[in-house]
Amino acid sequence: MSTFDVAADWFSSGAPLPPSPPPISEPETAPASPSTSLSSDPITLRVGERNFVTALATLTGESQFFSSLFSGNWHNTPQPDCSYFIDADPDLFVHILRYLRHSIFPVFYANGHHDLGLYAALLGEAQYFQIPRLVKWLEHQTYFRAVKVQRVVDEVKDVPDLRDLTKSNEEVEYHPFRTTEKVYVCPRGISLHRGKPNACGKLCERARGDDPKEYEDEGAYKTLVIRKTVVFDHRLCAGDE
Ligand SMILES: [Zn+2]
Repeated sequence: MSTFDVAADWFSSGAPLPPSPPPISEPETAPASPSTSLSSDPITLRVGERNFVTALATLTGESQFFSSLFSGNWHNTPQPDCSYFIDADPDLFVHILRYLRHSIFPVFYANGHHDLGLYAALLGEAQYFQIPRLVKWLEHQTYFRAVKVQRVVDEVKDVPDLRDLTKSNEEVEYHPFRTTEKVYVCPRGISLHRGKPNACGKLCERARGDDPKEYEDEGAYKTLVIRKTVVFDHRLCAGDE
């Protein structure tokens, strides 16, 4: 069973998180709690098999789990190396800590796809560490709105130059198709005037007389160019809506 499963089970059972701290019998002899030190002092967490060094204020700013843990009301014994053991997945904790440091919401998007599995796993951790703002971002799937795909459709004659450079946030699709178009026909049948009514002079106009201008259907190749641009909404990720 993974850490995430444990956290999810814990939540579905409705048990309060974190569990009630045991009564502190001898506060004088208890190890120093980080709450007695400066909130900007470094603190080491041992998450799974990895150590994370951060500031107490970073942990307690938005996480009710860490606020309770370091409130001084808990018998919260550090490890012999002065780190605090947290039973969680270190790979997911990287994202939790990154969020707690900068309050920038996570977006896991690459090659046209969001990593939905990672969002789901991170939601479990955000619930475990009791970070309401991050839980809301993940539950409401606001990350879908943070990545926008802009589509511009153009119809061009013939086949466009495929050597055109595209930006790395841009994807271009070409859909060639056959169509017919009306082509102007010279009343004197001069091929150089075909398709160019302005090329006809007075002699041509005299030949047409009072008849309307003549057009013929002609087969043509065209290409539909769909230009997709991926745009990140940095303001949304920063929580400014
Ligand atoms: Zn003409």
